[in-house]
Amino acid sequence: MVIEVDGACVLIDCGISYRQLATRMKSLGLEPGRIEAVLLTHEHEDHVKGLGVFLRRHPVPVLATVGTLEGMPLQPPSPRPLASGREVRLGGLSVVPVQTCHDAREPVGFVLESGHRRVGLVTDTGVFTGLLAERLSECHAVLLECNHDRDLLRVGPYPWPLKQRIASRTGHLSNEQACAALERLAHSQLEVVVGMHLSQTNNRPEMVKRELSAVLAGSRVRLEVASQHSALAVEIGQDPAARAGTGPR
Ligand SMILES: [Zn+2]
Ligand SMILES: [Zn+2]
Repeated sequence: MVIEVDGACVLIDCGISYRQLATRMKSLGLEPGRIEAVLLTHEHEDHVKGLGVFLRRHPVPVLATVGTLEGMPLQPPSPRPLASGREVRLGGLSVVPVQTCHDAREPVGFVLESGHRRVGLVTDTGVFTGLLAERLSECHAVLLECNHDRDLLRVGPYPWPLKQRIASRTGHLSNEQACAALERLAHSQLEVVVGMHLSQTNNRPEMVKRELSAVLAGSRVRLEVASQHSALAVEIGQDPAARAGTGPR
Protein backbone atom coordinates (compact mmCIF):
# COMPACT_ATOMS: atom_id res chain seq x y z
CA MET A 1 0.00 0.00 0.00
CA VAL A 2 1.22 3.50 -0.80
CA ILE A 3 0.32 6.53 1.31
CA GLU A 4 0.84 9.90 -0.34
CA VAL A 5 1.04 12.94 1.89
CA ASP A 6 1.98 16.37 0.58
CA GLY A 7 3.60 14.86 -2.51
CA ALA A 8 5.77 12.37 -0.57
CA CYS A 9 5.00 8.63 -0.71
CA VAL A 10 5.47 5.87 1.86
CA LEU A 11 5.14 2.21 0.94
CA ILE A 12 3.61 -0.18 3.47
CA ASP A 13 4.74 -3.77 2.83
CA CYS A 14 5.93 -4.97 -0.56
CA GLY A 15 4.38 -8.30 -1.42
CA ILE A 16 4.15 -7.72 -5.17
CA SER A 17 6.87 -7.59 -7.79
CA TYR A 18 8.59 -4.34 -8.66
CA ARG A 19 7.02 -4.44 -12.09
CA GLN A 20 3.53 -4.82 -10.60
CA LEU A 21 4.20 -2.04 -8.10
CA ALA A 22 5.42 0.30 -10.84
CA THR A 23 2.48 -0.53 -13.11
CA ARG A 24 -0.09 -0.02 -10.38
CA MET A 25 1.50 3.21 -9.16
CA LYS A 26 1.65 4.56 -12.70
CA SER A 27 -2.04 3.77 -13.20
CA LEU A 28 -2.65 6.17 -10.29
CA GLY A 29 -0.26 8.84 -11.58
CA LEU A 30 2.53 7.91 -9.13
CA GLU A 31 6.03 6.47 -9.54
CA PRO A 32 8.12 4.16 -7.32
CA GLY A 33 10.92 6.77 -7.31
CA ARG A 34 8.70 8.98 -5.17
CA ILE A 35 8.65 6.46 -2.33
CA GLU A 36 10.75 7.88 0.49
CA ALA A 37 10.47 5.07 3.04
CA VAL A 38 9.05 1.57 3.49
CA LEU A 39 7.07 0.46 6.54
CA LEU A 40 6.70 -3.25 7.23
CA THR A 41 3.92 -4.91 9.21
CA HIS A 42 5.80 -8.24 9.50
CA GLU A 43 8.21 -10.52 7.70
CA HIS A 44 5.85 -13.03 6.05
CA GLU A 45 6.58 -13.62 2.40
CA ASP A 46 3.31 -12.17 1.09
CA HIS A 47 4.38 -8.85 2.66
CA VAL A 48 8.06 -8.65 1.73
CA LYS A 49 8.74 -10.72 -1.36
CA GLY A 50 9.10 -7.71 -3.69
CA LEU A 51 11.23 -5.74 -1.24
CA GLY A 52 14.69 -6.93 -2.35
CA VAL A 53 14.27 -5.74 -5.93
CA PHE A 54 12.59 -2.54 -4.80
CA LEU A 55 15.47 -1.67 -2.43
CA ARG A 56 18.10 -2.39 -5.08
CA ARG A 57 16.47 0.28 -7.22
CA HIS A 58 15.44 2.63 -4.43
CA PRO A 59 17.58 2.12 -1.29
CA VAL A 60 15.24 4.05 1.02
CA PRO A 61 14.98 3.55 4.80
CA VAL A 62 12.97 0.52 5.95
CA LEU A 63 11.03 1.01 9.19
CA ALA A 64 10.09 -2.19 11.00
CA THR A 65 10.17 -3.68 14.48
CA VAL A 66 13.39 -5.37 15.59
CA GLY A 67 11.66 -8.75 15.42
CA THR A 68 10.53 -8.14 11.85
CA LEU A 69 13.98 -6.94 10.80
CA GLU A 70 15.55 -10.04 12.37
CA GLY A 71 13.06 -12.31 10.66
CA MET A 72 13.67 -10.91 7.20
CA PRO A 73 15.43 -13.00 4.58
CA LEU A 74 17.49 -9.96 3.61
CA GLN A 75 18.78 -7.08 5.68
CA PRO A 76 17.71 -3.72 4.26
CA PRO A 77 20.53 -1.22 3.66
CA SER A 78 18.98 1.44 5.93
CA PRO A 79 16.93 -0.22 8.68
CA ARG A 80 15.12 1.95 11.22
CA PRO A 81 13.84 -0.09 14.17
CA LEU A 82 10.32 0.63 15.38
CA ALA A 83 8.80 -0.10 18.79
CA SER A 84 5.10 -0.72 19.21
CA GLY A 85 3.36 2.36 20.55
CA ARG A 86 6.30 4.68 19.91
CA GLU A 87 5.72 7.41 17.34
CA VAL A 88 8.24 8.13 14.59
CA ARG A 89 8.05 10.97 12.11
CA LEU A 90 8.60 10.84 8.36
CA GLY A 91 8.53 14.46 7.24
CA GLY A 92 5.02 15.65 7.99
CA LEU A 93 3.71 12.13 8.61
CA SER A 94 3.41 10.69 12.11
CA VAL A 95 3.65 6.89 12.25
CA VAL A 96 2.64 4.84 15.29
CA PRO A 97 3.09 1.06 15.12
CA VAL A 98 0.49 -0.98 17.05
CA GLN A 99 1.04 -4.58 18.09
CA THR A 100 -1.07 -7.22 16.33
CA CYS A 101 -1.65 -10.94 17.17
CA HIS A 102 -0.07 -13.00 14.44
CA ASP A 103 2.39 -15.85 14.11
CA ALA A 104 5.26 -13.62 13.05
CA ARG A 105 8.13 -12.38 15.24
CA GLU A 106 6.86 -8.91 16.16
CA PRO A 107 3.98 -7.92 13.91
CA VAL A 108 2.33 -4.50 13.93
CA GLY A 109 -0.38 -2.44 12.29
CA PHE A 110 -0.02 1.31 11.82
CA VAL A 111 -1.75 4.56 12.63
CA LEU A 112 -0.59 7.31 10.27
CA GLU A 113 -1.44 10.93 10.85
CA SER A 114 -0.83 14.10 8.90
CA GLY A 115 -2.43 17.41 9.66
CA HIS A 116 -5.79 16.45 11.08
CA ARG A 117 -6.20 13.24 9.07
CA ARG A 118 -5.68 9.80 10.57
CA VAL A 119 -5.42 6.49 8.75
CA GLY A 120 -5.38 3.12 10.51
CA LEU A 121 -4.16 -0.10 8.92
CA VAL A 122 -4.56 -3.52 10.48
CA THR A 123 -3.79 -6.72 8.65
CA ASP A 124 -2.70 -10.21 9.66
CA THR A 125 -4.09 -10.42 13.15
CA GLY A 126 -6.02 -13.26 14.74
CA VAL A 127 -7.68 -10.96 17.27
CA PHE A 128 -8.82 -7.37 17.05
CA THR A 129 -7.59 -6.37 20.49
CA GLY A 130 -8.65 -3.57 22.81
CA LEU A 131 -5.28 -1.97 22.10
CA LEU A 132 -5.99 -1.89 18.36
CA ALA A 133 -9.48 -0.48 18.98
CA GLU A 134 -8.04 2.23 21.20
CA ARG A 135 -5.16 3.21 18.93
CA LEU A 136 -7.27 3.17 15.76
CA SER A 137 -10.06 5.26 17.26
CA GLU A 138 -11.09 8.39 15.36
CA CYS A 139 -9.39 7.42 12.11
CA HIS A 140 -10.74 9.02 8.94
CA ALA A 141 -9.78 5.96 6.92
CA VAL A 142 -9.58 2.37 8.16
CA LEU A 143 -7.88 -0.38 6.17
CA LEU A 144 -8.93 -3.62 7.76
CA GLU A 145 -8.10 -7.25 7.14
CA CYS A 146 -11.12 -9.31 6.04
CA ASN A 147 -9.31 -12.55 5.43
CA HIS A 148 -11.91 -15.27 5.37
CA ASP A 149 -15.48 -16.29 5.75
CA ARG A 150 -15.62 -18.80 8.60
CA ASP A 151 -17.87 -21.23 6.72
CA LEU A 152 -15.88 -21.08 3.49
CA LEU A 153 -12.71 -21.73 5.49
CA ARG A 154 -14.32 -24.63 7.34
CA VAL A 155 -15.59 -26.46 4.25
CA GLY A 156 -12.76 -25.34 1.95
CA PRO A 157 -9.81 -27.33 0.59
CA TYR A 158 -7.11 -26.28 3.07
CA PRO A 159 -5.64 -29.01 5.31
CA TRP A 160 -6.88 -28.93 8.92
CA PRO A 161 -3.65 -27.63 10.49
CA LEU A 162 -3.70 -24.66 8.13
CA LYS A 163 -7.40 -24.02 8.79
CA GLN A 164 -6.69 -24.05 12.51
CA ARG A 165 -3.75 -21.70 12.09
CA ILE A 166 -5.81 -19.19 10.10
CA ALA A 167 -8.70 -19.25 12.58
CA SER A 168 -6.44 -19.10 15.64
CA ARG A 169 -5.65 -16.11 17.86
CA THR A 170 -2.43 -15.62 15.92
CA GLY A 171 -3.95 -16.13 12.48
CA HIS A 172 -6.20 -13.85 10.46
CA LEU A 173 -9.40 -11.83 10.93
CA SER A 174 -12.59 -13.38 9.60
CA ASN A 175 -15.26 -11.20 8.01
CA GLU A 176 -17.27 -11.56 11.21
CA GLN A 177 -14.36 -10.34 13.33
CA ALA A 178 -13.73 -7.47 10.90
CA CYS A 179 -17.38 -6.41 11.24
CA ALA A 180 -17.09 -6.46 15.04
CA ALA A 181 -13.90 -4.40 14.75
CA LEU A 182 -15.59 -1.91 12.45
CA GLU A 183 -18.45 -1.50 14.90
CA ARG A 184 -15.87 -0.37 17.45
CA LEU A 185 -14.09 1.93 15.00
CA ALA A 186 -17.03 3.59 13.22
CA HIS A 187 -17.65 7.22 14.19
CA SER A 188 -19.12 10.31 12.60
CA GLN A 189 -15.83 11.48 11.03
CA LEU A 190 -15.01 8.14 9.38
CA GLU A 191 -14.80 8.68 5.61
CA VAL A 192 -13.38 5.53 4.05
CA VAL A 193 -13.19 1.83 4.91
CA VAL A 194 -11.15 -0.60 2.81
CA GLY A 195 -11.50 -4.35 3.33
CA MET A 196 -8.16 -5.97 2.50
CA HIS A 197 -6.04 -9.13 2.61
CA LEU A 198 -8.92 -11.30 1.36
CA SER A 199 -8.17 -14.98 0.88
CA GLN A 200 -8.77 -15.98 -2.72
CA THR A 201 -9.85 -19.45 -1.56
CA ASN A 202 -11.81 -18.72 1.61
CA ASN A 203 -13.54 -15.42 0.88
CA ARG A 204 -15.50 -13.48 -1.73
CA PRO A 205 -15.33 -9.70 -2.26
CA GLU A 206 -19.13 -9.50 -2.49
CA MET A 207 -19.50 -11.17 0.93
CA VAL A 208 -17.09 -8.66 2.47
CA LYS A 209 -18.91 -5.77 0.86
CA ARG A 210 -22.30 -7.00 2.01
CA GLU A 211 -21.23 -7.65 5.59
CA LEU A 212 -19.24 -4.46 6.12
CA SER A 213 -21.90 -2.33 4.47
CA ALA A 214 -24.45 -3.71 6.94
CA VAL A 215 -22.26 -2.33 9.75
CA LEU A 216 -21.99 1.03 7.99
CA ALA A 217 -25.69 1.23 7.05
CA GLY A 218 -27.04 4.75 7.23
CA SER A 219 -23.62 6.41 7.14
CA ARG A 220 -21.89 8.14 4.21
CA VAL A 221 -18.71 6.12 4.57
CA ARG A 222 -17.17 5.02 1.29
CA LEU A 223 -16.58 1.27 1.36
CA GLU A 224 -14.06 -0.46 -0.89
CA VAL A 225 -12.68 -3.96 -1.10
CA ALA A 226 -9.05 -4.16 -2.24
CA SER A 227 -8.09 -6.75 -4.83
CA GLN A 228 -4.76 -8.57 -4.96
CA HIS A 229 -4.69 -7.93 -8.69
CA SER A 230 -5.39 -4.26 -9.26
CA ALA A 231 -4.80 -0.77 -7.94
CA LEU A 232 -7.30 1.08 -5.81
CA ALA A 233 -7.00 4.73 -4.81
CA VAL A 234 -8.91 6.38 -2.01
CA GLU A 235 -8.61 9.96 -0.88
CA ILE A 236 -9.52 11.43 2.44
CA GLY A 237 -10.02 14.98 3.53
CA GLN A 238 -12.36 16.05 0.77
CA ASP A 239 -15.89 17.27 0.95
CA PRO A 240 -18.02 14.08 1.15
CA ALA A 241 -20.26 15.18 -1.73
CA ALA A 242 -17.26 15.76 -4.01
CA ARG A 243 -15.53 12.63 -2.82
CA ALA A 244 -18.23 10.11 -3.67
CA GLY A 245 -17.26 8.07 -6.68
CA THR A 246 -14.23 10.15 -7.61
CA GLY A 247 -11.52 7.70 -6.59
CA PRO A 248 -9.53 6.62 -9.68
CA ARG A 249 -9.51 2.83 -10.03
ZN1 LIG B 1 1.26 -12.89 7.89
ZN1 LIG C 1 -0.36 -11.69 5.02
